[in-house]
Amino acid sequence: MEEAHQVAEAIFENLPKRKAEELLKSIDKNGDDKISVEELKGYLKKADLKAMAKSNIFSLIDRNKDGYLQFDEVVTLSYVINSSRPVCNHCKKLIPGAFLTCKDCHWKKPAKESYNLCIGCYKGGKYKHKHDEFLDNYTLFEEMQEMLQESSFRSTSETNKPETNITEKGKNVLQTLSHIAEIVGCTASVVIAAMGLG
Ligand SMILES: [Zn+2]
Ligand SMILES: [Zn+2]
Repeated sequence: MEEAHQVAEAIFENLPKRKAEELLKSIDKNGDDKISVEELKGYLKKADLKAMAKSNIFSLIDRNKDGYLQFDEVVTLSYVINSSRPVCNHCKKLIPGAFLTCKDCHWKKPAKESYNLCIGCYKGGKYKHKHDEFLDNYTLFEEMQEMLQESSFRSTSETNKPETNITEKGKNVLQTLSHIAEIVGCTASVVIAAMGLG
């Protein structure tokens, strides 16, 4: 989790702390400026992040292990929630770093129903799943990049007003982009910028 803390710190160094402050306020029900396990669980369930609510997210983010999340830890929490870090379908733990995702479920199901595994569970082979082809998040990202570069998106994006001229196919590609963004853990605009499509 140390990596996620560092990434969060690096990102938030250059951004106003407002986002984390807003998040802290919306989770902190009793107004004591810190977040308890119950407050976080309640918030995640309400936000329809049930797998995250059941995971070990709190203990991962509670860096100083005092049983509460203070402002600096909420900065990490904000990053983890916004980057849609996946939860391992086998051990139910939040996966802060690299993970494996089922290729079939990824393509055929909505992002919420994707089947993800942490490296430990994948290597141990203890999981039971109906499909057997898994890709790590980085390879998946590369595959999707290639697929998108072959698609017609570039031609539709070269128009002056892409928002009015965008085709059905372009819309699908945009949806796929948001899907990749969820899988690799960043925002769609970052993916678009990284691919030079912006
Ligand atoms: Zn696991
Ligand atoms: Zn599957």
